[in-house]
Amino acid sequence: MRATGKFGRMAVTCLLAVSLAGCAGATPPVTAAQTAPAAAPASEPPAAVPVINEGDYQSWKAKFRDVAISQGIRPEIYDAALAGIEPDPSILAADSAQPEFNRPIWVYIDRIVSPDRIATGRQLIEANKELLDRIEQRYGVDRYTLVAIWGIESGFGRVMGRKSVVRSLASLSYQGRRVAYGQSQLIAALEILQHGDVTRDGLVGSWAGAMGQTQFIPVTYNRYAADFDGDGRRDVWQSTADALASTANYLKMSGWETGGRWGYEVRLPKGFDYAQADPASRKTVREWAALGVRQINGDGFGVKEQNAPAAILLPAGYRGPTFIVLNNYRMILTYNNSTSYGLAVSLLADAMRGRPGIVASWPRGDRPLSLSERIALQTRLAAKGYNPGQADGILGANTRKAVRAYQQSIGLPADGYADSDLLDRIQQ
Ligand code: CA
Repeated sequence: MRATGKFGRMAVTCLLAVSLAGCAGATPPVTAAQTAPAAAPASEPPAAVPVINEGDYQSWKAKFRDVAISQGIRPEIYDAALAGIEPDPSILAADSAQPEFNRPIWVYIDRIVSPDRIATGRQLIEANKELLDRIEQRYGVDRYTLVAIWGIESGFGRVMGRKSVVRSLASLSYQGRRVAYGQSQLIAALEILQHGDVTRDGLVGSWAGAMGQTQFIPVTYNRYAADFDGDGRRDVWQSTADALASTANYLKMSGWETGGRWGYEVRLPKGFDYAQADPASRKTVREWAALGVRQINGDGFGVKEQNAPAAILLPAGYRGPTFIVLNNYRMILTYNNSTSYGLAVSLLADAMRGRPGIVASWPRGDRPLSLSERIALQTRLAAKGYNPGQADGILGANTRKAVRAYQQSIGLPADGYADSDLLDRIQQ
């Protein structure tokens, strides 16, 4: 996602609070609402909506009416949707909250890939077999991935968020740091009402506007939501068929490869150059194999995958588990651009399918850097002549590159992973 990294999709969101990956982009995620830096699909450019946020709320509402009308919203739709709607202070508070402490990725994954969630997912796969057969046939996205996303985004439809989407988005549109996001999403929400898929009272979601069982934000909904049960309405709230088909459609349109895996846990050869373990460093599976990368059990990779582009992922540095990630992993990131999220979906889907879990151990003694520590690290890197980018606490590509260069300069494995030991070292 992007726009910010903060609009995930779910209401449940809170579950997801970790994004070690840092957030990327500039467009909001597809879905919606996580609370933490998880992001949203990056592939969603904001609609071209003028931003107007001067003056008090009533004058904003009157001016934005003209904008909405210019975007094709009928006046009576706007007036009915915004009638009696006042800004919700809790929305702005949620938007401006920047957590000082992040949970480690292993805590997040343990919580998501839990025995309960695996068992519930399997039961629902069985109970919805005929529906999932048809969705797989139509979209080519496997049931395990879809049900994993469903389980993570809304607890399989149990926790979807109950806030008025119009009110949430009007609040974000009027004030705060995401007015462009809020306004483009608000126009999209009004289009949903105009289209008649749902009533204003039924248009509910997370504080960031993520809606329904798989937490679509309105712009994404308008592009990808599907009426799979054929009742004439795209009902991602009440219809599991519509919600799961919408997610499948989104993934398919993003570039999902039917039958492809997300990736594998791997082991690296001795002397592997950790600087190559970066999302931006892609080689074919064959090239990685030629460098000595193997599945964790020692096996090679499938014949069909030999020419697939892949990256090596070290979500907790060289001392933690290592993965090779393929195209479909990147497609999961278009749903929410967070390493924690991408791995959680992948591992939960594997678990429901009966594949073994992670073999290597997480460095559970490590403590992720807090926000102020991440800023301190970036400040020290800059003072030493590296270029970590803006000292904003987000450990993106520039910061990882600077960390690698610093690690190389002092003879440490250049995995780009910043932990408290590294911070201690650079502060000496
Ligand atoms: Ca429907």
